[in-house]
Amino acid sequence: MSKPATEAPVVTRFAPSPTGFLHIGGARTALFNWLFARGRGGKFLLRIEDTDIARSTPEATEAILTGLRWMGLDWDGEAVSQSANAPRHAEVARQMLESGTAYKCFSTQEEIATFREEARAEGRSTLFRSPWRDVSEADHPDAPFAIRVKAPLEGTTVIADQVQGDVTIRNDQLDDMICLRSDGTPTYMLAVVVDDHDMGVTHVIRGDDHLNNAARQMLVYRAMGWDVPVWAHIPLIHGEDGKKLSKRHGALGVHEYQALGYPDTAMRNYLARLGWSHGDDEFFSDAEAKEWFGLDGIGKAPARLDFKKLAHLSGQHIAVMEDAALVTGIVDYLAAAGLSPLSDSQLTALGAAMPHLKERAKSYPELIEKAHFCLTSRPIVPDEKAAKALDPVSRGMLAQLTPHLQNASWSRDSLEAVAATVAEANGVGLGKLAGPLRAALAGRTATPSVFDMMLTLGRDETLARLGDV
Ligand code: GLU
Repeated sequence: MSKPATEAPVVTRFAPSPTGFLHIGGARTALFNWLFARGRGGKFLLRIEDTDIARSTPEATEAILTGLRWMGLDWDGEAVSQSANAPRHAEVARQMLESGTAYKCFSTQEEIATFREEARAEGRSTLFRSPWRDVSEADHPDAPFAIRVKAPLEGTTVIADQVQGDVTIRNDQLDDMICLRSDGTPTYMLAVVVDDHDMGVTHVIRGDDHLNNAARQMLVYRAMGWDVPVWAHIPLIHGEDGKKLSKRHGALGVHEYQALGYPDTAMRNYLARLGWSHGDDEFFSDAEAKEWFGLDGIGKAPARLDFKKLAHLSGQHIAVMEDAALVTGIVDYLAAAGLSPLSDSQLTALGAAMPHLKERAKSYPELIEKAHFCLTSRPIVPDEKAAKALDPVSRGMLAQLTPHLQNASWSRDSLEAVAATVAEANGVGLGKLAGPLRAALAGRTATPSVFDMMLTLGRDETLARLGDV
């Protein structure tokens, strides 16, 4: 699908609250915004919504930035801190006051609380209606006041949502929400709208837990006469059992997936498919995702986490990734998982062996397990299963193989021919010889093919390892 070139440039944003780690749901929201912008030559912005000072921490901000970087979701410009914009938010509240789309409310916390209690007791709506909405300036007391936006009293507000369709809210359900508190601090609801407007955001793609907020945020857009962005409220991610996602479903933080050893490309592919689809395509590249991604492909039903599918996709990505990218991925994985790093010579060996490792490995730890034969050094200590393969009869066969290997040319064809000769002489199939050979060379049973290992190790090392057993 080609995109019209005449449309205004797309600007999206990810606006996390820094109260913890980068949640898998947040990462998917960021990814959708990133794909949508990047596929249209637009901008993807990052805003840290740190207005809730009690809950926001610099560590959480850092964790979110680290998570986004690992996910490969680069943002344009500097990350914006919402709290730094507080003076601008207050200015907008005062502008609304001047234009008469907002008013000063002198009701105190106690008065509002009393109103709510009475309303509840009498079974009336607890939606607070400020008595100050229509009081003229001349009758205002000299007292602290909050600034409230004037919500329409009748009719409906329609949110033309690109995922949910038209969502209609009765205006008598909307209160005159506070934009600026009596202590002069802006509310979150005001801050979001002002920032989105000032940052030139054209499309707001976020979790559908914010759908109700959209109706209230519309009040500010209207009051200021600003263009409303395109809304797309995406269903939240559920667990494999279809229930709301929680800790018991497994990894929730992006850092946990990194520590499980999935490449970032696989994570992007997997998360893109979590709630969005493009025909039957399951396995795709970043370039394809950017080309294909659109709001019309987002489903209305909550997507379910599926760890098997993630592992499967991960295996497909590993199989086609560049060797050097896989080595870098392993280095980063070891650091993220808190494991000891590889030495320079191990990294060289890993790079050389990579073409033989990357088929059928679903994660970095699986790649490392397969690479054991070239990361370890003599004497090779066999694990329990490998030790069983090295019985006296098998050792005898390996002893017969050794002189053949001394004279063979070091190519796959001649190594295969030599192994076949020795197996035949012993009246066994090649598999019966490959088992002990594998155990001698790698000390493991899950390895690349014995010929790949011999070619990688070279003649001297191969013979030395055989000599050891
Ligand atoms: N800060 C909000 C959150 O983390 C997102 C607000 C928005 O996207 O408008 O849930």
